[in-house]
Amino acid sequence: MEYRTLGKTGLKVSRMGCGGIPIQRIDADGTKMLMHRLLEKGVNYIDTARGYTVSEEYLGYGLTGIRDKFVIATKGRGLTKDDMAKDVAQSLRNLRTDYIDIYQFHDPSMESLDRILAPGGALEALMEAKEAGTVRHIGITTHSTEVFRRALDLPWVETIMFPYNIVESQGSELIRACGEKNIGFICMKPLAGGAIEDAALAMRYITRNPDVSVIIPGMASTAELEQNLAAVEDPAPLSDQELEKIEAIRAGLGTQFCRRCGYCAPCTVGIAIPQVFTLEGYLSRYGLAQWAHGRYDTMPAKASDCIGCGQCESRCPYHLPIRQMLKKAAGSFGV
Ligand code: SF4
Ligand code: SF4
Repeated sequence: MEYRTLGKTGLKVSRMGCGGIPIQRIDADGTKMLMHRLLEKGVNYIDTARGYTVSEEYLGYGLTGIRDKFVIATKGRGLTKDDMAKDVAQSLRNLRTDYIDIYQFHDPSMESLDRILAPGGALEALMEAKEAGTVRHIGITTHSTEVFRRALDLPWVETIMFPYNIVESQGSELIRACGEKNIGFICMKPLAGGAIEDAALAMRYITRNPDVSVIIPGMASTAELEQNLAAVEDPAPLSDQELEKIEAIRAGLGTQFCRRCGYCAPCTVGIAIPQVFTLEGYLSRYGLAQWAHGRYDTMPAKASDCIGCGQCESRCPYHLPIRQMLKKAAGSFGV
């Protein structure tokens, strides 16, 4: 396993870490098994969040006795000092630890960042936690290039997490700037939220970028771990065939596609928006029409139920025209 220094944190982290979102799909004992496998394989970086329901708790259980072998990064959405202090206290309890290596502001908007930085804002809580030793380093995660650019100039920012993958290179210049400013860059969404099917190719593509300190594919099984590791540790340059496949994936997905982040929820009429787009992908891109129709038919709210209120679009960090996309999905599925 290759290790890198994570910017000014000075932490030595494995090139591949473990993204904690899929842990919500398994259980505490499954998480424990996965953590022990990560340890055996030399993967030492774990990312989770207050917002990932049971993820922190399962990790706390799974890391009992081996916590000191890992760099744990989590995140909170608190904007005020009080709320963020509560987030940190809860994360410490959930993770069963007395320190968190990296605490990150979880995807704040520009306006939220203003509140975080204002007197009485959340930054004060993380600075105090850092003084007290319960938080060792402070970072920020974002889906917005505007927030990313601003974060580069904030002196307390030690790490930045942003999506980067075969079809999302909008952060390339900013990722390079992280290297120049010695800010650790954490690559999220290596599979574009599941839109890219070929995980091995996706991982190989990202590891070719020297400015990426650590990649955090979401993993819930040792099989996924083995597959990702094999790709990350493969030193061969991308072949002509792989480069052609990358171009085909770009052409197939374009830029307006759902990353399944779920930030658009809840839909006013209960449409499971990312699931609709996922099934439409199976219908149109992957030739699984019958399977996709079967799943879609059981959904209680269909794309055609959208009343056009626009609430979801105001929450989508990718500014997707969800209403228009749902109309297209309704056309594809016929309802
Ligand atoms: S615009 Fe449609 S999909 Fe979006 S929240 Fe409103 S009803 Fe739901
Ligand atoms: S529509 Fe936007 S907010 Fe909703 S899951 Fe997809 S990318 Fe995320």
